[in-house]
Amino acid sequence: MFLEFKIVTSSGKNSKKQIAKARNEDSRQRERNRLSIIQRRHTEPAERRSARLEDARLRTQESRSAATDLVRYQQNGCERVRIAGTRTQRTADLNLQYHRLAFRYNPAIDYSSSRNVVIGQMSHVCTYCQALKFNNETKGMCCAGGKIKLPHLEAPPEPLKTLLSGSTAESKHFLSNIRKYNSCFQMTSFGAEIVTAQFMPTFKIKGQIYHKAGSLLPFKDRDLKFLQMYFIGDDKDEIDARYGIHTSLRRSIISQLQELLHERSNLVQLFKIAIDMMPSDTHKIVIHADKTPVGEHVRRYNAPTINEVAIVMVGDQFQPRDIVLHRRNDQLINVGEIHRCYDALQYPIIFWDGADGYHFNVKMVNPVNGAEINKKCSAMNFYAYRLMIRRNEDNYIMKYRQLFHQYIVDMYVKI
Ligand SMILES: [Zn+2]
Repeated sequence: MFLEFKIVTSSGKNSKKQIAKARNEDSRQRERNRLSIIQRRHTEPAERRSARLEDARLRTQESRSAATDLVRYQQNGCERVRIAGTRTQRTADLNLQYHRLAFRYNPAIDYSSSRNVVIGQMSHVCTYCQALKFNNETKGMCCAGGKIKLPHLEAPPEPLKTLLSGSTAESKHFLSNIRKYNSCFQMTSFGAEIVTAQFMPTFKIKGQIYHKAGSLLPFKDRDLKFLQMYFIGDDKDEIDARYGIHTSLRRSIISQLQELLHERSNLVQLFKIAIDMMPSDTHKIVIHADKTPVGEHVRRYNAPTINEVAIVMVGDQFQPRDIVLHRRNDQLINVGEIHRCYDALQYPIIFWDGADGYHFNVKMVNPVNGAEINKKCSAMNFYAYRLMIRRNEDNYIMKYRQLFHQYIVDMYVKI
C-alpha cells in the first residue's frame, strides 16, 4: 500500500508502469511459493507428513473448543445487533433526509448527482440473452441464467412500423388512441372493471379480467361483433363497421391496419380457412390450448394451423382449456388465460402475425448447448423475457403506449 501511494504521488506515466511491474512481481513470487510448497510436500516422508497433519488437526480442535456454542452464539448475536443498528441508522438518516423532500425543494441543490437519485445506466449485459440491466438487478431476471430462450418477435411491417414511431402527425394521433384502434380489431372482448380518474397515465382495473369470444359468423340482421367483422367479405363495409365503434378514429388508419391483418395475421387466415371448411352452423373450430404439431419445434411461434392443433369438427372431443368457436350461434365463450392464442386474439395490433403467447408447452433450454430440457418455462419467466430490452434489438412491445400498459396488467393475471 505504502509502495503504491509513493509511486502514485511521484506522478506520470512511469509511475503507472512501476505499479503494474510491482504487481506482476508480487504475483510471480506468490506463484513461486505455491509451487515450492507443492514440491516440498511431494517429497515429504510419510512420517513427517502425518505428524504435520496431526499437528494441524490438534490446533484447529483447540481453537474450536475454546469457543463454546454459547460463546459463538453470543458473538454472532452481537454482530447481528451491530449490523442491524447500522442499517436502522442509515435508513433513518435517509428517511429524514428525503421525507417530503419535494415540499422542501431547494433549487440550489443539484439533486441529479445524489447517489439515491442516480440509478445509473443499463450497463450490465446478460451473457446469455444480451439483456441490458441496471446495477443490482438480479442475474436471472431476464432469462433465468440462459434457461429461457424465446424466438424474437418480428418487427412490425409497414405501415404499422411508422405508425408506432411517433414521428408524424398521423402516428402521434395513432399512439394517443392506440387502445381504441386495438379495440376495433380485437377478436375477443375484454371484460374488466377499468378504473378511470381525472388524470390517468396508467391502466388500472378492479377485479377479474375476462376475454370472451363469440361465433365466427353473425345471425342475419344482428350487429357484427369482434371476430365476425373479419368475415364481412367487402373491404369498405368492414371499414365502416370498425369505424362505427369509435368515430373519433381515422378511416385511413383503420383501412391500413385492416389490410395488414388480412394479409399477415395467421389467425385471421386460419379462421377464413375454417369457415370454408364448415358446411353448417353445427360445425365448430377447436383450437387446442397448447398442442404442437408433430415434428414441429415446440417453441416455434406460429399461429396454429388447421391440422391437429386447430380442427374443424361437429362432435365434442375437446379439452376444457381449448377454444371452441361455432360457425354461427349466440353463445359467448371464455378464453382461458393459459391458451396460446389468448394474447394474439386480444391484441392483434401488437401480435399482428398471430404469434403465440404463454402456454404450458413452452420448455426451458440447456444454457450450454441450447437443447430443450424437460422443465417447463413459467409464465413469469416467459413475460419477464419478453419485456427486457436487449442489445442491438428493438423491443416493439414497449412502443404500444397505453395498449402496452393494458397488456402488462392483463398478462400479470397469469403470473
Ligand atoms: Zn439473460
